[in-house]
Amino acid sequence: MDGKKLSLEIEEKLQKDIESKINLTKRPPGLAVIRIGEDPASGVYVRNKERACSRVGIKSFIFHLKGTENQKEVEQLINKLNFDSDIDGMLLQLPIPKKFDEQRLISYINPDKDVDGLNEQNVGKLVKNEAGMRSCTPAGIVNLLRSQNITIEGKRIVVIGRSLLVGKPLALMLLNLNGTVTMTHSKTTNLNKLCKEADILIAAAGKPNLIDSSFVKEGAVIIDVGIHRLTSSDKSKTRLCGDVLLEDVIHKVFAYTPVPGGVGPMTVTMLLVNTIFSWQKQFGLSSTLNDILP
Ligand code: NAP
Repeated sequence: MDGKKLSLEIEEKLQKDIESKINLTKRPPGLAVIRIGEDPASGVYVRNKERACSRVGIKSFIFHLKGTENQKEVEQLINKLNFDSDIDGMLLQLPIPKKFDEQRLISYINPDKDVDGLNEQNVGKLVKNEAGMRSCTPAGIVNLLRSQNITIEGKRIVVIGRSLLVGKPLALMLLNLNGTVTMTHSKTTNLNKLCKEADILIAAAGKPNLIDSSFVKEGAVIIDVGIHRLTSSDKSKTRLCGDVLLEDVIHKVFAYTPVPGGVGPMTVTMLLVNTIFSWQKQFGLSSTLNDILP
């Protein structure tokens, strides 16, 4: 399942959607990204988001805070952006320094602008299977499955990992789409046996090469969410890998997502989708994105 290709196809559609509506809205969609501190990976992710926005015609507003601010000051910034009419979407780039109350900051984001879908109102809507902002990595995975006409309804699905960012929202989205979902985590016993029953196995444990062929049913679909940078023993080279030992499972599976080029590109694309969805809603335009939103 080629996430890079699918994300480019969706981006092309998004760019056209913006071009065709900008005469009515008189301004492009706006995405605000708040980064706090100097986490180097966050710098890369924020730059990727900025580039993706400019590819489709979203205006990005990057707020890079030093980390010397206090909780109240960040809350005030979020509040200001909540009322900024040029901004349709807003996200807090995670992780942030430990001194901040992350969940409280996220709860300050206006749910209509919460393009990461992590605000408790949006999580609640997901639990109730009501329309709302959906978190990007799980929404990207649903789109990857749809793009290959892989049915979710009635399938036995095992999700490895129960984080708020990936495992939990993903399990709920798949459940809402009538999959029969088992959630697993680090305390799950007999993980291997459970995984072997899965028609669709999704690995989001954050453990390099955790899943080998002994976990995989013949003909299963494998989604690898993990991303790890491995360094060669002489430290001269690095390469990316996922939670799945791909070379060991590839002969058994019906379809799989590679790392890199599988789930990762779709995560950024869904952020663009959510921002444009919010922009269309802001201007009372009918959504052109319903087939992409899970
Ligand atoms: P996380 O917050 O660390 O959560 C990991 C989850 O996996 C936890 O629920 C943990 O269980 C479970 N787990 C850990 N070891 C396990 C094991 N041996 N067996 C079964 N379950 C195990 O990580 P995350 O934020 O969800 O991210 C997971 C991975 O996806 C990471 O590699 C991350 O870099 C990657 N990621 C990729 C994208 C993308 O766009 N491609 C986006 C987000 C994340 P407990 O709850 O019991 O601790």
